[in-house]
Amino acid sequence: MAQTNSSPPSDFIREMIEEHIRSNRFQGRVATRFPPEPNGYLHVGHAKSICLNFGIAAQYKGACNLRMDDTDPSGESLEYVESIINDVRWLGFDWEDRLFYASDYFEQLYQFAVQLIETGKAYVCSLSADEIREQRGTLTEPGKESPYRNRSIEENLALFAQMRAGKFEDGAHVLRAKIDMVSPNITMRDPVFYRIKRATHYRTGTQWCIYPMYDFAHCLSDSIEKITHSICTLEFENNRPLYDWILDQLNVDYHPQQIEFARLNLSYTILSKRRLIELVGREHVTGWDDPRMPTIAGMRGRGYTPEAIRNFCARIGVAKNDNLVDISLLEHCVREDLNERAPRVMGVLRPLRVVIDNYPEGQVEEFECPNRPQNPGMGSRMVPFSRVLYIEQEDFHENPPKKYYRLGPGREVRLRYSFIIKCVNMVKDKQTGEIVEVHCTYDPETRNGPPSDGRKVEGVIHWVSANHSVPAEVRLYDRLFQIADPMAKEDDFTKYLNPRSLETLTSCRVESSLAGALPGSRFQFERLGYFYLDPKDSSPGKLVFNRIVPLRDSWAKVASQEKK
Ligand code: ATP
Ligand code: MG
Repeated sequence: MAQTNSSPPSDFIREMIEEHIRSNRFQGRVATRFPPEPNGYLHVGHAKSICLNFGIAAQYKGACNLRMDDTDPSGESLEYVESIINDVRWLGFDWEDRLFYASDYFEQLYQFAVQLIETGKAYVCSLSADEIREQRGTLTEPGKESPYRNRSIEENLALFAQMRAGKFEDGAHVLRAKIDMVSPNITMRDPVFYRIKRATHYRTGTQWCIYPMYDFAHCLSDSIEKITHSICTLEFENNRPLYDWILDQLNVDYHPQQIEFARLNLSYTILSKRRLIELVGREHVTGWDDPRMPTIAGMRGRGYTPEAIRNFCARIGVAKNDNLVDISLLEHCVREDLNERAPRVMGVLRPLRVVIDNYPEGQVEEFECPNRPQNPGMGSRMVPFSRVLYIEQEDFHENPPKKYYRLGPGREVRLRYSFIIKCVNMVKDKQTGEIVEVHCTYDPETRNGPPSDGRKVEGVIHWVSANHSVPAEVRLYDRLFQIADPMAKEDDFTKYLNPRSLETLTSCRVESSLAGALPGSRFQFERLGYFYLDPKDSSPGKLVFNRIVPLRDSWAKVASQEKK
């Protein structure tokens, strides 16, 4: 497992932090935070931010806080808070006793707002939301000053207190910063800091009917927590002057540095909470933790490991430009991790009955199969062989195409770790013409060795003994979307969902050693991929596997072509 523990390569954020350490800008301290809004489950984009913030804190012997950025009551809930806590911990990060809630700062934030009013830097504006939007101007047109901009400090203080006291209807007034309506940066055109909103907050209940806006609350929450580096995604670049303006006006003790980086976009999926909520709400998936979802909970349920996700985040690095990362890189990281640790077993997804005509009825022999041929330390297990076996339907072809090295009429193939068999006959269903059984003979002298006459048998296929294998259900997952960039589509993105993103196979057979496997274990089914014994849906006597990833690695292929 490469990378997990070695320190990540440097990037522009780490370079800036090192410069701040050298110049003693924050007395050498490094303090970061991961600030999710609890209005949805975390996705792999958040994992990038989590790895970055916690990773930087660990690297520079600082600390990273987990902060619920819960200043907007709509859509926030305790369920989401719990999922976030669970997911960050599962990813392997520890915030010790530093779990904070922006809603705990409501009183302090209110007092900061009062302070801005007192110094003439904020005013109560009684325009409607539409009017404010209209008067804000555009990139090419300056904004217009609000007629309420020059209210006296006393009037502003009184109105703001009444706003808090619930004297006005929702939307009747807002608190705005008094900055510059002709600023080329639209964010600086008297942004709204507080609005009246009668909504029950999942923590503060109905204690408040005014709520602070993100721009106002975020910088001050950072400052209250003595954060040094406030790392956020690129769309906040234009908000940085406002971040600094607020902290400068209030002359706070702690003025963090905001740094923006490019958010993660991943092909064939969607990384936007708003859209993921839609998938859940419209029941396109079974929930936030559906194994097809790009959420941490979904990936955990599918069988991804935290190490694989962390390695992926380290591999993609951080940059200043938005791009679309190929999902096959994530799948590659999953394989790379599981390749090392997942024991090999045999399982047949779509069984085809094979009768070995010359193998004695009732006889059973066992083959010792290594759990990982490249690593003898992982041991071995005994796999029974008998007269009736199952192989994969697609490993038999009545009219084999070119370059097909598996079984067909008159052809020979090696059964993995066991004998070479030769197809001598097949039985078809009289009605459908479907092949239901294949008859073979085995060559006893090929037990674990090549034929002595020097004939070449190239194909190797997996198999299980019919009587010894155990039944299993297997879910095969494919990409959630049919197109690489559903985020870029203007029309209903759900049109591009992949209708074949889940296939459930209910008549699979797996080798007997899996009968006692621990739920939550991961295996490589030879030739088929990595599988997770689903702890949620399996029960004693019922094995349910999720395919985590198939074996074919399209990333490695692309990468090796690029090298050429
Ligand atoms: P979304 O855009 O999915 O609705 P969000 O940005 O509103 O997400 P937050 O809960 O505010 O979600 O995000 C918490 C932190 O995670 C923020 O610092 C945000 O910048 C970061 N983050 C969110 N999405 C990504 C992403 N795709 N890549 C990297 N970081 C992200
Ligand atoms: Mg956000």
